[in-house]
Amino acid sequence: MLNTAITLTLRALSTFRTPQKPLTFSGAGAARKLADFMIQAGQKRPLLVTDSFLLKNGMLDDLIAFLEGAGCTVTTFDGIVPNPTFAVVEAGLKASRENRCDAVFAVGGGSAIDAAKVIASASTSKKSLAQLTGILKVDQPLLPFYVVPTTSGTGSEVTNAAVISDTETHKKKFFVDPKYIPIAAAFDTGLLKSLPAPMTAATGMDALTHAIEAYTSRNRFADTDRDAAMAIKLLVDFLPTAYQNGADERAREMVALGSFLAGYAFTKASLGYVHAISHQISAHYNTPHGLANAILLPRVLRFNRPTCKGRFAKLETMLGQDSTVTDVDALADRFVARVDALAETVGIPVNLTDLQPKDFDAIARDALAEARSSYAVPRVMRKAQVTQILQSVATGNRAISFA
Ligand code: NAD
Repeated sequence: MLNTAITLTLRALSTFRTPQKPLTFSGAGAARKLADFMIQAGQKRPLLVTDSFLLKNGMLDDLIAFLEGAGCTVTTFDGIVPNPTFAVVEAGLKASRENRCDAVFAVGGGSAIDAAKVIASASTSKKSLAQLTGILKVDQPLLPFYVVPTTSGTGSEVTNAAVISDTETHKKKFFVDPKYIPIAAAFDTGLLKSLPAPMTAATGMDALTHAIEAYTSRNRFADTDRDAAMAIKLLVDFLPTAYQNGADERAREMVALGSFLAGYAFTKASLGYVHAISHQISAHYNTPHGLANAILLPRVLRFNRPTCKGRFAKLETMLGQDSTVTDVDALADRFVARVDALAETVGIPVNLTDLQPKDFDAIARDALAEARSSYAVPRVMRKAQVTQILQSVATGNRAISFA
């Protein structure tokens, strides 16, 4: 009964036809433009949320100098870690409150943006983090919230969600509310081009996963189809170049826009089993989110093929050069092979050595529970099939076939 209620609420949330879309700035120097926009909007005491790697590498020097030069009092919180925890968010919240920050400005990957979302929300609320966890729990407007994604994968810069890891339960907790969509975002190619090739690959495949899961979701509609298909095209066309030549700013920008569109599509259409399983894997082994998704995607595509072959065929028709092939089965097979080839081109491994068979039961159970409560999946998976996928991820057999 409870699950049904949650499912209905999530469906209602994810099918909002007109969620706010952040204003966007793009290209070299876009982070400065965003900072200028924030200042014009009247905020002068931003909490800069980032991680120590980006800060120590000097990637934020220019931005901080610009903000301070414009008279801002900048509080820098660089405590973000991949898959951020509640303790990380509490520390950022403390910095925000102690310094009476009037805005939150996140620079980093999905981890920084997600933690910043919850910091921006908790800063204006009397609720504890536990009380803010869940769906539609935000009771106050957030501190004005701006983001500069430095990875191109999670789409967090446009989604209504934040994901925070609970280290006690080994579960990822969701914060879902349209108020988590930032005011504005900047895709700064000067910052994006330093993303190392393996992370470019994993986060780009994360974006591709968002787009494919949105495109095959039962919650899809015309707008999400259009954005998801465009995202898939941009990612298939430009991810290999961004991976092979990180300094190519055009490829970086196109991959960032692909990731943004994929995020916008899935925030309305929802996700699927790749995410349901990968969230449990990351919570158990702290596996980078994009990598877990990238490794799972080919397996889940094969599982979904019987019910999604028409959708896969449409995508292949959009992407393919050979207009003489019209058979749906052949096109669907080509699409799955195309995703395999892309994963190989960008060096995605076929297995995850961290996986422990003793954890399979809990991972499968929790993955199915997440999918049941949150996603409009195109084909329902059973526990034995999740376990089969986990075994194939542990052993490296990507060409799995399902009964
Ligand atoms: P991340 O934010 O964890 O960053 C990974 C690493 O990349 C960090 O060590 C960081 O320092 C480094 N990095 C980031 N940008 C860099 C750059 N330009 N140059 C060099 N190094 C750089 O990775 P991510 O994949 O972007 O985010 C993953 C998180 O996002 C997970 O916690 C996941 O659950 C969450 N997520 C959220 C949503 C959402 O809708 N809110 C969707 C998907 C995933």
